Amino acid sequence: MRSLGGNVGRRVGVIAAVLVALAGSLVVYFYNQITLLDHEIVTDSVHVIYGVGGNVAVLRTERGAVIVDTMTFPLQGRRIRELAERLGGGPTQAVVNTHYHAGHTHGNPAWPAGTRIVATERTRAYLERFDPAFWEGSAEGSAPSDLFTDRHELRIGDKTIRSFYLGRGHTGGDLVVLFVEDRVLHTGDLFFNRRYPNIDLEAGGSVQQWAETLERVLALRFEKVIPGHGPVTDRAGLLEFQRFIAEVAEYARVSAAAGKSLEETLAAANLEHDGAFEEMSIPFVFKFDRDFVIRRAWEEASGFVQPVELSAPESPGNR
Ligand SMILES: [Zn+2]
Repeated sequence: MRSLGGNVGRRVGVIAAVLVALAGSLVVYFYNQITLLDHEIVTDSVHVIYGVGGNVAVLRTERGAVIVDTMTFPLQGRRIRELAERLGGGPTQAVVNTHYHAGHTHGNPAWPAGTRIVATERTRAYLERFDPAFWEGSAEGSAPSDLFTDRHELRIGDKTIRSFYLGRGHTGGDLVVLFVEDRVLHTGDLFFNRRYPNIDLEAGGSVQQWAETLERVLALRFEKVIPGHGPVTDRAGLLEFQRFIAEVAEYARVSAAAGKSLEETLAAANLEHDGAFEEMSIPFVFKFDRDFVIRRAWEEASGFVQPVELSAPESPGNR
């Protein structure tokens, strides 16, 4: 019996050691994945940083870096800040958050309290409504503080940075940022390049209004586009996404008006404009694919989901 017990004990010991080693390598794996940043030149003064979360734009000015979005984890934020200040010619002059989602804002605490952080009034209100715990304590000073409703302009050294709220789409508060001299636009998640988008109807997103919002975006003067997710592209890339979102909106509107159920709507879908689109997913967390986009479009068109009421000021696109 004693020897059997010893055997079991040894086996348990071996299994425990293997589990600890596995857990350790998983931690190392995820740490590496999270902190891995890739970057690419867009123009002489603009870089894009890719990683786990939304794409980050860096503008180099005579006085230092302007940064759009900060990805998902404070740990990433520190790496992004380091890299961005190197690419952007010096200390951060301003951070812009395109919208409230964690994958675009949770790196913010890497910047000291008092940093100018630009966002729409509605983005700040959505943060307070849907994500208040993150912004308590040490992160409080890094929540968006320089707020606007329709249009915002910064002049830093030799560069002009214009942010616009142009209507509902991915959420009800997304801004787009134009680096005027470089003619580069960062769209935030109003544009997923060749990927199925997330649609946050609860925070004012709208499939029905999205294409019209993009029409106003396309009226701006830019050549290159940094999307919220996916590779950098141009006006043609943005038009391709607009065609897809318009097609889904129309299909869901007609289907809902005919009283079709979600199952019928999904089964009969025959979309043409998403041939090259990729799915985005994290198992058990989210999956943005064709069915997800159709479902959200149907839910909106059928009046199934209503956005939360906010006290933040209404903008033309929300009226
Ligand atoms: Zn988003």
